[in-house]
Amino acid sequence: MNSALTIAKFGGTSVANYQAMSACASIIAQQSDTRVVVVSASAGVTNHLVSLCHDELDTDQINSVINAISDIQYAIEKHLPQSETRTSALEALLTELTLLAKQPSLRTNDMLKEQVLSMGERMSSLLFTDVLKAHNVAAEVFDVKQVLRTDSNFGAASPDLEQIKTLSQAHLAPKIVTHVQVTQGFVGADEQGRTTTLGRGGSDFTAALLAEALGAQLCQIWTDVIGVYTTDPRITDKARPLPELSFEEAAEMATFGAKVLHPATMEPALRQDIKVFVGSSKEPEKGGTIIVRDCDVEPPYRAITRRKEQVMVTVKTPKMMYAQGFLAKVFEIIAKHELSVDLVTTSEISVSFTLDNPPNSVAERLNRETIIELQDICDVTVERGFDLITVVGNNMQTSVGVSSKILSAVSDYQLRMICFGANPHNMSFLVQEQHSDEIVKQLHRVLFE
Ligand code: ASP
Ligand code: MG
Repeated sequence: MNSALTIAKFGGTSVANYQAMSACASIIAQQSDTRVVVVSASAGVTNHLVSLCHDELDTDQINSVINAISDIQYAIEKHLPQSETRTSALEALLTELTLLAKQPSLRTNDMLKEQVLSMGERMSSLLFTDVLKAHNVAAEVFDVKQVLRTDSNFGAASPDLEQIKTLSQAHLAPKIVTHVQVTQGFVGADEQGRTTTLGRGGSDFTAALLAEALGAQLCQIWTDVIGVYTTDPRITDKARPLPELSFEEAAEMATFGAKVLHPATMEPALRQDIKVFVGSSKEPEKGGTIIVRDCDVEPPYRAITRRKEQVMVTVKTPKMMYAQGFLAKVFEIIAKHELSVDLVTTSEISVSFTLDNPPNSVAERLNRETIIELQDICDVTVERGFDLITVVGNNMQTSVGVSSKILSAVSDYQLRMICFGANPHNMSFLVQEQHSDEIVKQLHRVLFE
């Protein structure tokens, strides 16, 4: 392990504009151990790129989306010291984007989409490198496609850990000696060198993967909040930042909706015991959350997370005689569509499960196709308008009184799909979205205030 090495990742809001980027550069200028910087696209850019890939836009609309993107980037560029190389590189990227965006086949060609989606990080890394230089940090932009090898599952590619390690040791490690390497989060390349992406919010995952590949000791995730909170501070002002979390708790929170971290981020951290820090690039002096393997205390309740826009699907076979093997058939269809199911409850002839339905993702389209296919073998009921609420903690299934405390706190509300006990770190249920703020507040009061 390279004990002195730190990887720092800056999220979209941290690189949204010149002022935000400058705050990030000051952080890097003060930490000599940080030799690799991973950046997200500037806030808003990836959503624009997703719109180019998925929405039916006419030429004027395409142009206005590209203008919106280029305005965000040039607003940063104009503050930087003159550089012919950088200006023409930015221009070239925007020209490439314009050409891609006007390809008639874009909306049906996953390979082209990936190239479009990668543009945000390519531009922000180019600009941030020069912001660092302006802060007297010797920095270079590094093309992450050289090292971040993935499979060819476009839109949600999986990393090839061994290759990433070999390639990073060969191409990235030698460069960090002299210059801080600024590279793109979210983006990878398959064996043929074709661009891939890791799924929305994937830059955190990139940082953790590179930390693992380079044997770093610390991975910093710089964002716009001063760490991970007991619950989303936009729901209740009583939410407070958590100084410490375990890998398991953090993974659970990310999976169940805490927006600060991409759910896969904890996997490399856990494998290699890399500490993960989450803090605000605007207020680094306020500290943040440190995520480690073993915490000093493991409280039964650590946090409450919420995931919005959940779809509940209930499938029912009309004939009892089909009941045998029914579950297998249902899950075969779900697996084929590569959907991940979160909560499941079953009875002999029916199964209910929940699907995540996030905006700006391809998941919703898949949900629709999955449901059509399920209708071939059974009766399908789809209910929407739910939020998934999860209490995250420790030893929850073996501690006395945990479930009754949670359930009695919310006894005034209708809960669906209560799931508890499959894992020591969570208890989850669905609630109607119009009640979900009150329920989170009420739970927070009972468990944490
Ligand atoms: N830019 C990508 C997104 O918005 C990846 C990231 O920011 O982590 O999803
Ligand atoms: Mg993010």
